[in-house]
Amino acid sequence: MTNVIQLKNILLKYGNYTAIDSVSVDFREGEFFALLGPSGCGKSSLLRIVAGFVDPTEGEVLLDGKDMTNVPARLRPINMMFQSYALFPHMSVEQNVRYGLEMAKLPEAEIKARVGEILETTHLSSMARRRPNQLSGGQRQRVALARALIMRPRVLLLDEPLGALDKKLREAMQLELKRLQHEMGLTFVVVTHDQEEALVMADRIALMKAGRIEQVGSAAELYERPASRFVADFIGRTNFFDGVANDGKVGVQHLGELIGDVEAAGPVTYSVRPEWIRLFNRRPVDYDNCVEGVVEEVNYHGQGENVMVRLPGQPQLVTVLKPANEMTPATVVHGGKIWLAWNGRDARILSR
Ligand code: ADP
Repeated sequence: MTNVIQLKNILLKYGNYTAIDSVSVDFREGEFFALLGPSGCGKSSLLRIVAGFVDPTEGEVLLDGKDMTNVPARLRPINMMFQSYALFPHMSVEQNVRYGLEMAKLPEAEIKARVGEILETTHLSSMARRRPNQLSGGQRQRVALARALIMRPRVLLLDEPLGALDKKLREAMQLELKRLQHEMGLTFVVVTHDQEEALVMADRIALMKAGRIEQVGSAAELYERPASRFVADFIGRTNFFDGVANDGKVGVQHLGELIGDVEAAGPVTYSVRPEWIRLFNRRPVDYDNCVEGVVEEVNYHGQGENVMVRLPGQPQLVTVLKPANEMTPATVVHGGKIWLAWNGRDARILSR
């Protein structure tokens, strides 16, 4: 797969503060890439470096293999969509969308054709004559997208594009963005702090922490094979047990030895996700790991229940997902005893 953009050893300092620390990452032709991480980890700064709004202190930005580090933003075939959509309030949707092509002095016939096409793709044709203040948040968002897409950039950068929308609309727009990106075959790089959003939209995700990339991979790779405790914690939910790995097992104080896919030795974190643990009223056979605890809380959430269990000597409650459609569900009683069981292949061993 061809790389459109390559970032090589990017360092960014704001005064003495290192905002980005030796980051190298590639964005591939036609992929939907997400820069994900907690607030302040350097996502926006990295996006701005790609756009050319910020110069890296050290490192290189290559586009189609050519060094772009000193090419100004307006000369890069890259477009950026900001969270504040910055539409012209006195212009109609159509005028907003055609503005960039008029500035580029394209022939009127071509402008007309391209505007018609992009309004269709973004489902805005019926609103072409409206002003931005006559549109909903989601529609304004689509106008901003249409305005960026009509320039046919090699890469579209989106900084928290759905940040201003409510949950329902956000979820609809996530799919919409994915559809547009796929249909147009463009490379999208999106910044988000919302892991669910990244999982839904992105082909690949770079999870960042304090100016560095912790792991790059598909949603499934990050979820199923997290490279660190930080990744396992940030992507989805999980249960952690700190322990010491030895001889293919992890010794956890007060719990005994947990079986997992253990190659490491020394201090590790043992991680098992809520959906891999099963509940039983009697100690089951056929599981690698069985521990008994006490039910402290049960939270209903539509697809099932989250059962929170206190295990001997463990500071954190363990969360177990109890699906609504189980064949032979265990009886869960608040304050009652319960067995938790899971297999070693479903646990992950993370270095501490
Ligand atoms: P994110 O997008 O992940 O929230 P940013 O890239 O915006 O993170 O910021 C990374 C870090 O750099 C933060 O600690 C932020 O306070 C700092 N920072 C961002 N822009 C500037 C600036 N212009 N001057 C000084 N510090 C900045």
